[in-house]
Amino acid sequence: MNQFSKVLKTIMGGSNTKPSLDSMLASFDRELDNFQTLVKPDSRSRPRTAFDSPHLTFDDMYMSKLTLRQILSFLPVMLPLRMRMIQSARMYDGKFQPEHSSASPEFLTALEKMAFSAGVADIRYVRVPRNTIFAHKGIPYEYAVIFTVEMDKNRFSKAPSFDAFLEVARGYGNLARIGNKLARFMRHNGFAAYPGTALGGITDYSQLGEIAGLGAIGYHGLLITPNQGAHLRINTIYTNITNLPIQTENKHIWVREFCSMCKKCIRGCPVQAIFEQPRVNEDGGIQCIEHGACRDYFNQNYGCAVCLANCPFSEMGYEKVKVRFKGNPKAPQFHI
Ligand code: SF4
Ligand code: SF4
Repeated sequence: MNQFSKVLKTIMGGSNTKPSLDSMLASFDRELDNFQTLVKPDSRSRPRTAFDSPHLTFDDMYMSKLTLRQILSFLPVMLPLRMRMIQSARMYDGKFQPEHSSASPEFLTALEKMAFSAGVADIRYVRVPRNTIFAHKGIPYEYAVIFTVEMDKNRFSKAPSFDAFLEVARGYGNLARIGNKLARFMRHNGFAAYPGTALGGITDYSQLGEIAGLGAIGYHGLLITPNQGAHLRINTIYTNITNLPIQTENKHIWVREFCSMCKKCIRGCPVQAIFEQPRVNEDGGIQCIEHGACRDYFNQNYGCAVCLANCPFSEMGYEKVKVRFKGNPKAPQFHI
């Protein structure tokens, strides 16, 4: 194990031979033990997808090949992300006692104003279905604020690349920073608020984003939204506020009709990890990717992101795709 690997292991956790994102996330998940009651997953819920590739050594992973210059760019992004994720986890100490469970319109306006000024791209509310909670996890309350941050699409033009990887890490850092800030504001106003883990999480954020009407999941398994295409990251804040303005309509499901004609991500995936058609899981969610194949390539190639970069909704933009799709008489009929 080289010196850099030791530094990463200290930041992320892991075995004696390599750092591990899954170990880092497991340390956050243990905070859930501080709760006597949690909203539990559905009996058919699936486990969170693992990040680690069991048969890759540290020398196989892109992290072992970073140059000194790349390491010096990466640490100022990774260290604050790690610190903010620890701050999020500390809020799960089980000590906070809410005073109210009903929010005024003024409070929600102030929350959204704070969110946008902190860099949020979009914000919605959702009642978390139990099938979106990962197996063996649990959430403190069944309501959630869900928000997105945009990533700079120019950074993905050469994906897989260090630039793209760094931009993803920045996205996670922003999610953690904003999640903590909004959660503190909510608590300050007497509401329970538990920021989700920016990276990983205990619920399926893409599925929640679709349920909340933020966008639709494309064939590459990522949420596609009108303003960001697939260049976004998602986080949640679980809360006891019961009167959130929850939207139940989703105007974006036509995206998957377009996907059924496009399939560019399937053709472009370097390891053919994307299914010809998404499969419906036992828990009712959809699975688009053979995770093992994606994960191994991802861990060797800067987190890949080729499918994110090449998606027409990212390259061309949602509105242009929509206009062309609607104007094509051969396009399948779809409902908006
Ligand atoms: S590349 Fe095409 S098929 Fe894949 S998610 Fe984007 S629009 Fe859908
Ligand atoms: S991240 Fe890369 S390997 Fe994984 S599905 Fe997308 S294109 Fe394929």
